[in-house]
Amino acid sequence: MASRTGSRASVQCLATPSTGDRRTFRRALLRWYDRNGRDLPWRRTDDPYHILVSEIMLQQTQVDRVLPKYREWLDKYPSFHALAGADEEDAVKTWYPLGYNIRPRRLHAIAREAVGRFGGELPEDEETLRSFKGIGPYTAGALMSFAFRKRAPILDTNVARVLFRVVIGRGNPKAHQMRKHLWRLSELMMPQKRVFDYNQALMDFGALVCPARNPKCPECPMAGFCRAYGLGARDSGLGTRGSAVSGPAIAAPPAGRPRRGKRESGNTSKTTRR
Ligand code: SF4
Repeated sequence: MASRTGSRASVQCLATPSTGDRRTFRRALLRWYDRNGRDLPWRRTDDPYHILVSEIMLQQTQVDRVLPKYREWLDKYPSFHALAGADEEDAVKTWYPLGYNIRPRRLHAIAREAVGRFGGELPEDEETLRSFKGIGPYTAGALMSFAFRKRAPILDTNVARVLFRVVIGRGNPKAHQMRKHLWRLSELMMPQKRVFDYNQALMDFGALVCPARNPKCPECPMAGFCRAYGLGARDSGLGTRGSAVSGPAIAAPPAGRPRRGKRESGNTSKTTRR
């Protein structure tokens, strides 16, 4: 059981940003995405199968390596029916050299299930999606958001890291309670409109500006209100080994540095000044 001091720290850690801060975050993120978002083939489709293929390929693998394989895979297996009718070992060979060969096997099993239970489609509700072996909470959220264009949160490693650094700043991002809180934050921070862009933006931002190592804090549009940067904290530890406060440094802002991204409302800002 946590001590009283520990409990107070946890409660503080799990606080949520004000409405104005959430709006500031969303605006900064979408503005950045409008200028810097990547044009990727799976962002130009709403075919659930294509999006599922991209999501499973992108697990543990960088975009540059996924791009050629994504095209090759869809040429060879253009639909759930095509993949379900293929030999599983052939699918694993086609997957090479992406690695983590459990992934093509899962994809193949999902295809068979989609054909067997749903006539080669994916259901549009999250609960049924999660009943598929191989579709976890992140993939279900990605399908709801990217394929079915629903207002659904996502939480992959990039998204968790960005939310943790901007909103929380210190603590253990991998702790069970924190993970649950990050899911809640992901839902809470979502806009009413442009949810598709917002979720894609979070992932791009995490990959390009706020990676696990060497985040680009001095040029980051969130720097004015990022909790980790404001604290001059050591890295969150997401995506790194060791303790939650080990890893590459997030430099403290220089003294007297003007802070950007002020609140838009008069509310006390938890994101900007906690
Ligand atoms: S200021 Fe640094 S840690 Fe904060 S969001 Fe930007 S890149 Fe990430």
